[in-house]
Amino acid sequence: MTMTTHQISASAAQFLQRGQHSLFIDGDRVPAAARGTIEVRNPSTHEILGHLAAGSAEDVGQAVRAARAAFNGEWSRWTPYDRQALLFRAYDLLERRFDEVAEIESLDMGAPISRTRGSKAGALRMVQFFAAMALSVRGETLPNGLPGNVTTMTLKRPAGVIGGIIPWNGSLTALWWIVGAVMATGCTTVLKPATEASLSVLYLVEILHEIGLPSGVINVVTGHGSDAGNALASHPDVDRIAFTGSTATGRQIIDASKVNIKRLQLELGGKSPDIVFADADLDKAVPGAAMGIFGNSGQICFAGSRILVERSIAKEFGARIAAYLKSLQMGSSMNLDTHIGPVISEQHRETVLSYIEAGKSEGAELIAGGQMPDEALGRGYFVAPTVFANVDMGMRIAREEIFGPVVSIIPFDSKEDAIRIGNDTEYGLAGAVWSRDISTALDVVDRIHAGVMWVNCYGLIDPLVGFNGAKMSGYGAKGSIAHLDTYLYTKSVYIQR
Ligand code: NAP
Ligand code: MG
Repeated sequence: MTMTTHQISASAAQFLQRGQHSLFIDGDRVPAAARGTIEVRNPSTHEILGHLAAGSAEDVGQAVRAARAAFNGEWSRWTPYDRQALLFRAYDLLERRFDEVAEIESLDMGAPISRTRGSKAGALRMVQFFAAMALSVRGETLPNGLPGNVTTMTLKRPAGVIGGIIPWNGSLTALWWIVGAVMATGCTTVLKPATEASLSVLYLVEILHEIGLPSGVINVVTGHGSDAGNALASHPDVDRIAFTGSTATGRQIIDASKVNIKRLQLELGGKSPDIVFADADLDKAVPGAAMGIFGNSGQICFAGSRILVERSIAKEFGARIAAYLKSLQMGSSMNLDTHIGPVISEQHRETVLSYIEAGKSEGAELIAGGQMPDEALGRGYFVAPTVFANVDMGMRIAREEIFGPVVSIIPFDSKEDAIRIGNDTEYGLAGAVWSRDISTALDVVDRIHAGVMWVNCYGLIDPLVGFNGAKMSGYGAKGSIAHLDTYLYTKSVYIQR
């Protein structure tokens, strides 16, 4: 086993040395109103990385006032070119300093450093996308349909203060979907990052102020979801909420938002089917399906957690996935050779292990992974990539989102059977199909009820194309021009001449 450790940059180290992290409101680090703090641990080692301020409703109130004041000021009237220039500067900043953010993210949430650093190209594409969106906000002029001389048009105006509630599994991407749109449209925001991964968000927002982002446009209140998160979702002066997280929390946000009829954008959970036909190129499908679930240790909303395999090749496919997993190295997030890091927390590790027990007791066939010695990799929260074969849709491991490195292989007998099983879930986030027969592939694409489908690949996301959720995976576009709907409102204008 090789062990090349990534050396973290001086700037990231300096940030982490603060130990006690503040909130970030109105362009400044500010302490929380109450004294409570939240311990931050490195999931690879269980070591304490620092402490977050436990923001409360009072802090959310202060941040919303700052965001409202910034919205009412110059910012919402910046020209599209000024917004675009700011996004260009953000691009340069990320180009230069992305590794610092990636280092903090890897230490805080456990994703391998190769993965977080490797997400740079995707982050830069998001910034480029939003730089283009800054010049794409437009209403319509419409032919007059009324008696007399009336000129009619629609204007698109920024919606106001956006509450951004983000998860821990990919906070940097979740952040750019919000921050990019805020910069492109002239909205302002209060971000509530997940307690398990707030540090990279705090750091990035702080350094964005070095390139001329005005104070109060982007504020960060760390703290528990039930406290700071709920205060944001129920705040009467927050216009909209962009939320990424679990379906259960999504429901609570819907409830909280009714106080002022907030419009919501919700990206929720999934149990996505990854469908492999017997004619697929298995040299591509095996690693593709494996990384579709085991990338980020299964902690991806659109993870292909159900691999549906045509029965004639199910046994061979299982054996090949198990063999492929032997080529992956599990280890500390800062080891350059790590493919699979830990899961996010001790508690989450327990949850994932309890699903592995459930799979065994419900009669699924464990063909890779499973329990490993508790301290095999020190005190980190590691779970071996685990594969169950011969799973059926009656089992909990096939129905519930595990959000960990556990996959169910479910055999099917025909295309109809695959589509039926694929759709047998309350979720509708994503799916994939592997086949050399384009009409088989397109039939499946057409008939799986999900917001994104991949053919002979898994997990590609381009903000230009974007994705949506279907069924209980949420609503409101991420990416594409429709993304801006969450950040704009439409005003119809009638001018009598
Ligand atoms: P989560 O528990 O729902 O938390 C998401 C965020 O909501 C966190 O910031 C959390 O804060 C906050 N929160 C919790 N309770 C809240 C409440 N009552 N009111 C307001 N905010 C509240 O989800 P997670 O465990 O972080 O992430 C995993 C889940 O996210 C999975 O279900 C996954 O599928 C989903 N996800 C979906 C997508 C997508 O694009 N569809 C992307 C990524 C993740 P604290 O954690 O600090 O308490
Ligand atoms: Mg952590």
